[in-house]
Amino acid sequence: MARGMERINLIERLEQELGKDKVLTAEKTSDYSTDMAGFECKPAAVILPENEQDVIRTVNIARILRIPVVPRGAGSSLTGASVLDGAIMLDMRRMNKVVEVDTVNWYVRAQPGITIEELNRELVRYGFFFPPDPASSYICTLGGAIAEDSGGMRCLKYGTVKEWVLSLRVVLPNGKATQIGEPLRKNRAGYDLVHLFVGSEGTLGVITEACVRIIPIPRIKRSRYLLNFDTWKDACSTIVELKSNGILPDIFEFMDRDTVHMVNKTFGYDFVESEATIIVDIEETDSSLAEQIFKKCNARNVKVAETEEEMEKFYSARSMAYLALKANSTGVWAEDIVVPIEKLSNYLESVKDVAAKYGVKIPVGGHAGDGNVHPSILYERNDRKSEELAERVFAELCRIAISVGGSITGEHGVGIQKAKLLREQLSEHGGEEALRVMKEIKKLLDPDGIMNPGKYVEAA
Ligand SMILES: Cc1cc2nc3c(=O)[nH]c(=O)nc-3n(C[C@H](O)[C@H](O)[C@H](O)COP(=O)(O)OP(=O)(O)OC[C@H]3O[C@@H](n4cnc5c(N)ncnc54)[C@H](O)[C@@H]3O)c2cc1C
Repeated sequence: MARGMERINLIERLEQELGKDKVLTAEKTSDYSTDMAGFECKPAAVILPENEQDVIRTVNIARILRIPVVPRGAGSSLTGASVLDGAIMLDMRRMNKVVEVDTVNWYVRAQPGITIEELNRELVRYGFFFPPDPASSYICTLGGAIAEDSGGMRCLKYGTVKEWVLSLRVVLPNGKATQIGEPLRKNRAGYDLVHLFVGSEGTLGVITEACVRIIPIPRIKRSRYLLNFDTWKDACSTIVELKSNGILPDIFEFMDRDTVHMVNKTFGYDFVESEATIIVDIEETDSSLAEQIFKKCNARNVKVAETEEEMEKFYSARSMAYLALKANSTGVWAEDIVVPIEKLSNYLESVKDVAAKYGVKIPVGGHAGDGNVHPSILYERNDRKSEELAERVFAELCRIAISVGGSITGEHGVGIQKAKLLREQLSEHGGEEALRVMKEIKKLLDPDGIMNPGKYVEAA
């Protein structure tokens, strides 16, 4: 049968099962043809499920017709995780309700399509919040953040999403729905499938509901500082000194000179452009000790935010940095390296060496407090040579991280971007057998290979 004919039959079948208002027509599927890093695809169909039954019906059609299905939130993935040619895209954003807020057991149960920002807007009414805070919180969905085990700016104190998920409801590739885990702080009943699904990048099933831990909004006020340094060594020694003096900042974010320059240029700010800029939140009770440490580590221009607006301005400079880079280059390869904290300043020097060696611009920002670095390789999109060079540089930066005991990803995940590098990391660090087990798990749960196939562990 001609491909166009197959597509019409598929759309008709989906419309019969789900109703026309939940199936997008061809001309409306273009919004789903890319993720936010610019990985591209041509979806076969887009479904807007409103409940778990809609997800089950879609997965069953995909299974019978052997068509891949991709669960999708906002498509803000930076690794190609949420794009796939010829797939049925399940846009989960109509399933965006808060089901239950429990302020005694400190959890919230919600549907996967709610954004992290919307979730927190609801929780603030109860005096609570969900701490993981990807810079994309204003668009990214709870389901996407769980499937990516997302991180963000508050990980230093609160960890990534995986530390907050208690239980999930999931539609498996065989079309069956199941509860995994319990909404309990302690639960030892069976293998820990919850954490198998956290970070599974939509390859094992579709999350249709999540129960995640919440905590009260802290009562101790925070001071937010903006610090400038002339060397990475001084900037990085600040976090080491703070931690060894018993101070754990809520956030400890950094940007290099090029990043701050592009943020200034794009958003009309006037931040000082120094070798290293740090944004750090300290509980007010620790402020005076922290200020002594900043001085000892040669910080200059120690500026504390004086108003809520100024606090927000410091924060948004960092959270909007990726958008500033995108606005100033046709192509950005976003890296997501983790290195042990004591190796951070050497790693940052290596990034500069690699940039000089290949003659490319690599602005760097990231979550310095937990060793999570985001070098962004700028290149000319649609210039094959420039793209190839960026890919080469990208792989080299990953390999340097692997060689010092680091990881190729701290929070953005693997997708199609880093599948081969995942194999290299696991093999260098003694995890070859673990990779084999991961591949077997994928086959066991998805024998027909319909759930976001050909990526991540499968492609490693
Ligand atoms: C400007 C910007 C800043 C960012 N900052 C950060 C950051 O600070 N920290 C960070 O960790 N990431 C960051 N990201 C990356 C991205 O936003 C996160 O990975 C985010 O959590 C993805 O959510 P999403 O809803 O957009 O998911 P999508 O991109 O739609 O999907 C991501 C993956 O999750 C799967 N998925 C989505 N929904 C479900 C579901 N219901 N069930 C099963 N699988 C599902 C998809 O199949 C895909 O594999 C940033 C991205 C941008 C564009």
